[in-house]
Amino acid sequence: MAHKISDACTCCGTCESACPVEAISPGEPTYVIDADKCTDCGACVDECPVEAISPED
Ligand code: SF4
Ligand code: SF4
Repeated sequence: MAHKISDACTCCGTCESACPVEAISPGEPTYVIDADKCTDCGACVDECPVEAISPED
């Protein structure tokens, strides 16, 4: 399990610094979360202005 960034991402970059384990990085076409690093802490979810981050199903 890991959190995931949807197509709604506008690449604002806000979530990148919010992640304590540096699992978030710029990607194409959206920012991406490294599933191997993500600990599902949820810290990034409330940082996203367009609500693009959610727990993976
Ligand atoms: S849920 Fe936590 S560990 Fe996973 S990407 Fe978001 S801030 Fe990083
Ligand atoms: S905070 Fe949201 S819109 Fe901004 S880069 Fe992260 S996922 Fe994309």
